[in-house]
Amino acid sequence: MSDSSGPLIDGLADSGQEQSQQLIQAAIDAALHSLPEGESTGVCTICGEDIEAGRLELIPGASDCASCAQKASRPLPLSNSN
Ligand SMILES: [Zn+2]
Repeated sequence: MSDSSGPLIDGLADSGQEQSQQLIQAAIDAALHSLPEGESTGVCTICGEDIEAGRLELIPGASDCASCAQKASRPLPLSNSN
């Protein structure tokens, strides 16, 4: 154990890997937490229409219907296609 550079480099590599894994885990957590929790009322809070049964099966806590969610998630049109 006279050479300390080996363990030192290993330690740095490990911490770097842990850091990226933490970043990935944080991204996964954020994605999971972005999903609504609990039971949905079954009514879209945006347009007031009934939320599709299939959508409620996928997202039990959905608070908006598929079309409203699609509009909300769609990025604003940018005029970069000139
Ligand atoms: Zn809606």
